[in-house]
Formats: sequence, structure tokens, C-alpha cells
Amino acid sequence: MLINCPFCGPRDLREFSIRGADVALDRPEGTEWSEAWQDYLHLRENPAGVSQELWQHTGGCGAWLVVTRDTRTHEIISVRSAREAAT
Ligand SMILES: [Zn+2]
Repeated sequence: MLINCPFCGPRDLREFSIRGADVALDRPEGTEWSEAWQDYLHLRENPAGVSQELWQHTGGCGAWLVVTRDTRTHEIISVRSAREAAT
């Protein structure tokens, strides 16, 4: 399987490391501990379908990437830099 790094081009999956799922979660307001923070940090869905994940090109340029992937088929729908995704 290939991941198309926006900076390096298509590279083998083994060059990448997954760093987290559900990157589309809404971060709670404030910094004080709350039930919302508890849920944000510890509760994750395991969706069967399209999911946004945070990956890093650890065997290449080191870029942080948001990968949109279908967990049922492993099809990669899009890859964009995390910086671009945050704007
Ligand atoms: Zn790269």
C-alpha cells in the first residue's frame, strides 16, 4: 500500500507511523479538567467507514499528515499536511 506524501510523493506504507485517530474530534474549551476533557482524551470510536487519522512520515521527511481512510477497505481517500488541515 502506498501513501502519497504531499512533500515526497507516493511512498510505501512502511515509511509511515500512525500517531492517532479521530483527528476531527472537537477539542474542549479551557484547560481545567472536565468530563468533556475525559471523553476527549480517553474515549474513541472504532468506526467502520471513513476516518481521519494522524500519520507521520517517519521514514522520510518527518511531516505530520492527516490521512482520510476507509477502515473497511483500507482505501486512502486523501492525504494532506497537518498544517494545511489546521488552517
Ligand atoms: Zn514525506
